[in-house]
Amino acid sequence: MIYLDAAATSAVRREVLEAMWPYLTGDFGNPSSHHAVGESAARALADARAVVASWLGCRASEVVFTSGGTEADNLAIKGVALATPRGRHIVTTPIEHEAVLASVEYLTRLHGFEATMVPVGEDGRVDPGAFAEALRPDTTLASVMLANNEVGTIQPVAELAALAHERGIPFHTDAVQAAGWLPLDVKALGVDALSVSGHKLGAPKGIGALFVRGRIPLEPVVHGGGQERGRRSGTENVAGAVALAAAVRLSSAAQEANAAAGREARDAFVAAVLREAPGARLTGHPSERLPASASFVFPGTNGEAVLLELERRGVVSSSGSACAAGSEDASHVLLALGYPEDLARTAVRFSWSPDVSAADLAAVAPAVADAVREVAALGR
Ligand code: PLP
Repeated sequence: MIYLDAAATSAVRREVLEAMWPYLTGDFGNPSSHHAVGESAARALADARAVVASWLGCRASEVVFTSGGTEADNLAIKGVALATPRGRHIVTTPIEHEAVLASVEYLTRLHGFEATMVPVGEDGRVDPGAFAEALRPDTTLASVMLANNEVGTIQPVAELAALAHERGIPFHTDAVQAAGWLPLDVKALGVDALSVSGHKLGAPKGIGALFVRGRIPLEPVVHGGGQERGRRSGTENVAGAVALAAAVRLSSAAQEANAAAGREARDAFVAAVLREAPGARLTGHPSERLPASASFVFPGTNGEAVLLELERRGVVSSSGSACAAGSEDASHVLLALGYPEDLARTAVRFSWSPDVSAADLAAVAPAVADAVREVAALGR
């Protein structure tokens, strides 16, 4: 079996498991406890925070550990919007992850916010001119993801953040899919808040982090004992934070090499699928895209049926975002890119982790073509 659904999740890396193990067993303390067992956990948490901060190029005090990308997005959107007295208007895009879209929807439904969705082109890119036009004197927050989880398009985040800053508006980016593949220096990106998730990087599910610039007011979403400097209550997931730090260490050391290898393998894979699978079209931006992801539409098929055929051939992929699992709806991302609903339902996404080689991928292209032909022939 070849696993090409890394954008949904990846396996925990052995080194990561080894790093976190002591904090689940002997060193199991609560970092708030005033005894040696607690202090050891507190030290591990501080070390993990320092690693994440150095990865993101920020201060350790600007890192809030969360239960994952979803919570980081919720905290960024609700936390910044509700703490900023500037107004009640949010600017975002229709292709954000549900964690962002549903947080914005919550603010509009219950807190009197208005939202402007800046449209994207067929390649999934936000036009900076249209983004600038959407910003208003009462805009509290702008949020645009760094890379899309379905089509892989990378946004011009530094340019968009600069436009928001010219008007004094804080800028958040969801970097969950970009982590491990693109540099995430928050100063270079110019962002005020950035979300990451451990399980896309080789850490377990259930750990993530939000960077929030020190001077940005933040209203907590989870209330309680005041951990994480009052920004996220709850006994800290020490082993998870240690795991995230271990995954960050491993992936940042290899990021450039992984990205270069990923791009090369991706381009060969895309060319082979476009050549061999009848009618295949690549979705997203042709070049401004994640190194290890490629999604296609296969006209005349059904994405779910292609997935099943692929699985029979030993290839595991996805019809879009696993985070919207259970929904039978056509992808909101492809609809926002202008795909008609019937074509959007033919989408298949392939995404892989750095341990998948170019040769592994090359072997998949004929299976894709075969599966597409089979489904098209059966009229499914
Ligand atoms: N944001 C993006 C872009 C994602 O792809 C995902 C998950 O796939 C999330 C947020 C949610 O992260 P988590 O699964 O850690 O809650």
